[in-house]
Amino acid sequence: MRSCTYCGRGGHNRRSCPALKKTIRDDPEGYYARVEDRKAKARKPRKCSYCRTEGHTKRTCEDLQRDRKIQAGRAKEWRGKFLSRCQDTGFGPGTLVKYVDPAQIKSEWMSTRIERSIEKHGQYALVVDCRWETLDHRNAARSQNAIIVRFPSGFQTFAQLPTEFGGLMDEYASPHFEIAGKINSSKLAETLPPEWHSGTDTADWHLHLT
Ligand SMILES: [Zn+2]
Ligand SMILES: [Zn+2]
Repeated sequence: MRSCTYCGRGGHNRRSCPALKKTIRDDPEGYYARVEDRKAKARKPRKCSYCRTEGHTKRTCEDLQRDRKIQAGRAKEWRGKFLSRCQDTGFGPGTLVKYVDPAQIKSEWMSTRIERSIEKHGQYALVVDCRWETLDHRNAARSQNAIIVRFPSGFQTFAQLPTEFGGLMDEYASPHFEIAGKINSSKLAETLPPEWHSGTDTADWHLHLT
């Protein structure tokens, strides 16, 4: 019979070695404890944390790869439409926007809020940036505060895309701004990274993995 690879004695193997068990008991965070813990995990059948099926891991999950592709495809499609709308309407960082007439806002509470903001900061604001990662097909499902606007007072806030983006936003969206001064946005696409264009950057967010 082979002797134990831990203590060198015969009559038992490493898995049942009393000396090794004692070492682990004495130092549960130590080297041997970690080695045995890793081995025990490897003996268990592996379960994919994404699809909950045994036999593979998340890293090689085919369901996950397929779902990522689907989400990236949806983002890519929405972003393509978004960019062409930007070009058509002259929208992007640098565009001047203006509060819509508060009377047009369906929610009375929001209408009052906009009236107050107009009194305080004025009706016009500059689009200083977008939250690019939120600009994808999620906008069609639920209103997003996807743009960052700055008022002459210096006050800065998040807002929904302006009214010109109807059809790309959810049907109940009630944008607070409209475009008042266009920019030339023909170069906007070039400023965005490849993963934004391909939609791969937000796929995991849509799959609740981040
Ligand atoms: Zn032993
Ligand atoms: Zn899986």
